[in-house]
Amino acid sequence: MKKVIILILLLFVIAGVGYAAYKWPRKIASTEEIKDVKSVAKAVKHLHRDMPATRSGDWLASHDESGQTFKQYLRANPVTLTKKRNKLYVQPIGKFAGKSSEIIKLSAEFMKIYFGCEVVVNKNITSDDFPERAKRVHPSWGVRQLLSTYILDDVLKPKLPDDAFAMIAFTEKDLWPGRGWNFVFGQASLRGRVGVWSIYRNGDPRTDFALCLDRTLKTATHETGHMFSIQHCIAYRCNMNGSNSRDESDRHPLFLCPECLPKILVATQSKSEERFKKLAAFCKKHKLKEAAEYYERAYQCIRKLNKKSGDDKDKNHNPKRK
Ligand SMILES: [Zn+2]
Ligand SMILES: [Zn+2]
Repeated sequence: MKKVIILILLLFVIAGVGYAAYKWPRKIASTEEIKDVKSVAKAVKHLHRDMPATRSGDWLASHDESGQTFKQYLRANPVTLTKKRNKLYVQPIGKFAGKSSEIIKLSAEFMKIYFGCEVVVNKNITSDDFPERAKRVHPSWGVRQLLSTYILDDVLKPKLPDDAFAMIAFTEKDLWPGRGWNFVFGQASLRGRVGVWSIYRNGDPRTDFALCLDRTLKTATHETGHMFSIQHCIAYRCNMNGSNSRDESDRHPLFLCPECLPKILVATQSKSEERFKKLAAFCKKHKLKEAAEYYERAYQCIRKLNKKSGDDKDKNHNPKRK
């Protein structure tokens, strides 16, 4: 009888190990790295505010979302930068002269810091030779629009390089995604690793440059964040909050909350101190006031944290030293 019980227990143990091995997700970061990014998140937590109450018409008023903790993210086998797929490609569609060409150049520069990877800006292509089915003049507004699904499937996917983590296109013209729709700000195919965003509705870069840049950066980083398997955030005010309207997305910040920040840090293997420092300098230079203040404060917190842990390591190596 005793032998039977031991055998049954043994079978449970083996089955348990097998089950755990089968369910265990791909490890995207070492235990040490996970500990480090958690301490970064903890160090900046006091700079963040909880998600404000939902207003009527907001994203959460019509979408029942449960959010995604850092722990859930790690268990979800997220898409990350890899040795083979480590570049972000930006494809401008249209002329992009003057101030709007600067918006594209700066978006590429910002994403390079934000995602800690190489960003390649392709040569502009024209939409003049798009087929008739991919262009229209909006029946009531008279605005010229491009079909977003055509850009994703017929323009970007065929030219996606092997080393691309993703390719995102920017257009000057307005976008519409097909029958029954008036317009979209942008659209992404997360599995297809392609996305397209229009700057048409982001304000006039000649008169409202900082606002147009801020909106373009928010959309580009939010949608690319989804490509890294990050879901919408409901915990804090965060760049990954869902958004139903221009008014709502203007209320969201350009930075990530303490629950979403560690996801990007592990997915891109970025060093937080350097990242915050460069983001602060960028935002200050381009008058993105709220983001500049946040990144500067976050940078100071992490500098202090790293200095302290460096001092602690020194003490451990040389316990007699004070
Ligand atoms: Zn989203
Ligand atoms: Zn968040």
